[in-house]
Amino acid sequence: MLLIHCPYCEEDRSELEFRWAGEAHIARPENIAAISDEEFAEYFFLRNNEKGLTYERWRHIHGCGRFFNAARDTVSDRFLMTYKAGLPKQALPETGASEKTVETYEATEGDAR
Ligand SMILES: [Zn+2]
Repeated sequence: MLLIHCPYCEEDRSELEFRWAGEAHIARPENIAAISDEEFAEYFFLRNNEKGLTYERWRHIHGCGRFFNAARDTVSDRFLMTYKAGLPKQALPETGASEKTVETYEATEGDAR
């Protein structure tokens, strides 16, 4: 069974408690009413869907209920790192990148539920 580290509960929990919530770090346009339909479609619908390292949003739906971000390798399905929502994209640690890490980072004022 795959274990996922929740940065809020600070525990490794069963994957059955979590729900994938899409690509992380999607920036909403500042003036969404002023962008073209094509720009809106690109922002709203198009995702990178890259093979390998990807940054995703996950939700601990059957736990604390909070959203957080995860760096995951889509080839091996390994979670490389999880961190709290609202934090910028985190660089992977130098060592242990091939192993599951449970590092978390302290929230900043931008930390949202
Ligand atoms: Zn949690």
